[in-house]
Amino acid sequence: MTNKINNTESLLQQISVMSSVLDNIGSYVFSKDLAGNYTYVNANVEALFQRPAKYIIGKNDSHFFDLDILDELLENDRKVINEKVSLTSEETNVIKSTGKILTYKVIKNPIFNDIGEVIGLSGISTDITAQKALETDNLNQKHLLDVVLNNVDAYIYMKDAERRYRYVNSRVAELIGLPAEEIIGKFDHDVVPPKYAEHFWKSDKIVFEKNEKMVMNETLEDADKKVHHYLSTKVPFQLNGDLQTMVAFSTDVTELYQLKEKFEQLANTDELTAIYNRRYFFENANREFKRAKRHQQPMAVISLDVDHFKAVNDQYGHPIGDQVLIKIAQLIAPTIRAEDIFARIGGEEFSILLPNISQSKSLQAAERLRELLDTNPILINNNIKLPIKISLGVSVIKASDSCFQDLYSRSDSALYKAKSHGRNHVYLMD
Ligand code: GH3
Ligand code: MG
Ligand code: MG
Repeated sequence: MTNKINNTESLLQQISVMSSVLDNIGSYVFSKDLAGNYTYVNANVEALFQRPAKYIIGKNDSHFFDLDILDELLENDRKVINEKVSLTSEETNVIKSTGKILTYKVIKNPIFNDIGEVIGLSGISTDITAQKALETDNLNQKHLLDVVLNNVDAYIYMKDAERRYRYVNSRVAELIGLPAEEIIGKFDHDVVPPKYAEHFWKSDKIVFEKNEKMVMNETLEDADKKVHHYLSTKVPFQLNGDLQTMVAFSTDVTELYQLKEKFEQLANTDELTAIYNRRYFFENANREFKRAKRHQQPMAVISLDVDHFKAVNDQYGHPIGDQVLIKIAQLIAPTIRAEDIFARIGGEEFSILLPNISQSKSLQAAERLRELLDTNPILINNNIKLPIKISLGVSVIKASDSCFQDLYSRSDSALYKAKSHGRNHVYLMD
């Protein structure tokens, strides 16, 4: 007898403990019989329905939920009972008493009696409304970010410290000619030609080493082998708090680059003869002069001027004079060494800068040019052969020269001497 009382007491005690645990579990816990009437609810369910347990027990869901969601709810209950399976689902419920829409993660299990028959079901339901809202927010944000990243006129990618791609926008995928999924996780040398991979390796390395934002120019061939120029901004970025990555934004500046090159070329070219102009000549001459001095290398300048050119203009007119100047340049240009700079200084005067050449070799070169013009009359109007002569002044670098102008002035004086010696002459000024 005492034993039985003890057993009952301990059982009641256990139930009380269990019930307290279930009341504090933070989820809605309940059981229902085969008719769908509640047989147990914990404190959370009481709070949700705003009714005490004794009111809820013995009643079915139609008392507590809106009709439109009741079907889905009962469908799940039927499945658990009829098919004797455990069911995990997400349920969206509108609470009748408050009108609030809540999302739950629901796990339902059949309850069996001693002989294995289903007598009802148990359910545990966790409110994931806040979590769902966060997920939806995240998804919306991700979607927004995807739309922005894939439509912005830039190539955007992320690499980890190993230099593996972590993210590429659709522009990058298009450029490389592979779907984004096939680029992510790969190194540059897996997806771009070796010379570019090597360049990226080096420039990315600097970003990781310096760990600061960098702006640089880059070059890459597209899938059609067209070379593109990019202006890239690379920013170190700590992903998930600890993973060191780099985010890069590259803008295609090919058109601007080509324009810049074209402008540079225009700025360096003589409009009439298409050889270098005065600006380019002196800019490079000053640089070459310093280099020659530094390395104690020889260097020469030949200044040449067309003899009696005024007479050509006077006799045939200025436009024919122009044609003659073009043809003189075309005659001389092919005889110039790759390292020399042949430029039109102005009017009918030209200069040649000859780095790394001896005095005798530079004199020979000048003499060859004089002879070239002397023996090749210039054809004008397709029938007239004009005997055009030139005078040339040569100077070579001296230890006492402090700037290029010193050297150049001597070639100019030499030219003047060549003129006064009767023209069609080469004169060297020591
Ligand atoms: P010299 O043998 O002393 O050099 O005689 P020159 O007639 O060549 O010398 P001068 O300096 O008196 O005349 C140069 C002429 O070159 C005068 C100028 O009209 C002409 N000239 C200068 N620039 C151009 C040009 O771009 N086109 C043409 N057609 N003529 C030019
Ligand atoms: Mg002249
Ligand atoms: Mg002249």
